[in-house]
Amino acid sequence: MATETIFTKIINGTIPSNILYHDDLVTAFADIAPKAPHHILIVTNKPIPSVAEVESCDEQMLGHLFIVARKIATDLGVNESGYRLIVNVGADGGQEVPHIHMHLLAGGKLGGLGFPKQD
Ligand code: 5GP
Repeated sequence: MATETIFTKIINGTIPSNILYHDDLVTAFADIAPKAPHHILIVTNKPIPSVAEVESCDEQMLGHLFIVARKIATDLGVNESGYRLIVNVGADGGQEVPHIHMHLLAGGKLGGLGFPKQD
């Protein structure tokens, strides 16, 4: 069983957050350090540490992340203009919180995807 994360505490309401959406499978709230005018995290209620550990029984829940992303994008008025969905995986992927989540970034024209410059 995965250990409790800071996101579990937000989902449970132990830590306050700006929750935009919650259902049986996922919870969405504003990122504490936004990287875009709209920066929302859509988090699985089940604390799976990363995509590296997903199982086929998680398929419905993981697919639901996209359905909720579309709903939030629609609510924010950006579903037509566009937005970016990111899932970081592991240390090299830049994942800081070991609890599966999707970033929704929106609110303007986004820059290109980054990769460190090789010197
Ligand atoms: P990761 O790098 O794991 O893909 O993204 C983790 C995200 O969680 C970061 O964008 C970070 O700003 C956000 N974050 C970390 N701690 C908290 C918190 O306590 N509350 C909220 N709302 N976001 C957090």
